[in-house]
Amino acid sequence: MKSVRRPQPGNPYQDLAQSGSREWPILGWWECRYYRGDAASEPIMGRLSGRPKAQALAAEVVAFYDDCLLYRESPTLPSSLYEIGLHHDPIDLKHARIELRLGTNRTAEALSHELLHLRLGMLGYPMGEEVWIPVELVPHADDLIDMHRIVGNLLQHDLIFDTFLDLGFEKSRFLAPSAPGPDYGAIALDCSRSPDYREELGFPWWCLEYFRHWLSARHGAGQQSQECADSALHRGSRIHPQMMEATVDMRRIVESGALKDAAGYSHWTNRILGLMRLPQYTRWVDIRPGDDSSGGKPWATVRTDKRGPFLTPTSTLRHTIGTPC
Ligand SMILES: [Zn+2]
Repeated sequence: MKSVRRPQPGNPYQDLAQSGSREWPILGWWECRYYRGDAASEPIMGRLSGRPKAQALAAEVVAFYDDCLLYRESPTLPSSLYEIGLHHDPIDLKHARIELRLGTNRTAEALSHELLHLRLGMLGYPMGEEVWIPVELVPHADDLIDMHRIVGNLLQHDLIFDTFLDLGFEKSRFLAPSAPGPDYGAIALDCSRSPDYREELGFPWWCLEYFRHWLSARHGAGQQSQECADSALHRGSRIHPQMMEATVDMRRIVESGALKDAAGYSHWTNRILGLMRLPQYTRWVDIRPGDDSSGGKPWATVRTDKRGPFLTPTSTLRHTIGTPC
């Protein structure tokens, strides 16, 4: 094992990327080891013991991402997560990372969930890499980007949920238990009274509150999530009446299965962002498997398929997937 410097905030993997070690201990009170590439295989397989289908999934993901895979596990992590990190100029894959929170009653489920997220890149689903933000919203760019991140994660859940069940897991264990929803009645009252309330931020926020609970209910979180979704829609649409129509169209896109076509994923994601009045992605990235030219390392490239449906954003939902009004 080789010690490396504690990563600097804002660029946590700089030191790791420059290290030649395959197993990365991080110094400090929060010490917890990172594993890279093949070295991650043993701890991952151990967490999936007795789950041969999940182990096969893990083997596939470890082999694909090779040395770009970073994995760590600890009971001190606040939650489990995945992340695909990119270099931007020029575009390239930096890392594919999983952090697994130990000490819960759904360790194998959480790990499989995150592995399924990483597998989407292998299956040809692109990642939104760049959005255009209007000048007047630039001061709120962080909030908007945060909403994009949440929407992307939620939409991916619709792509991986069935496979999660195919691995033999219970649908109620797909998501970590969620905190009770906020008091949307009180929030709506604050919104209506505040002179600083801004519709261009409030509308997407209410849509996202509805959408995240509705999708969680769809993905096994149960009645409590559905009630939160209903409450967010009821309260939010009193402030923004157009929210009712927007959420109907958002639901139609998800329920149509259109997102599951990797070639159309970018188009339909942008369509949902547009319905929420969030800026749309202007650039998408594909992850490619390692080959001779990349030295066996997986790589990322800007999507250039001009025949792809994502470049015909004028297609309407009704025309394209034939859903009724
Ligand atoms: Zn997830």
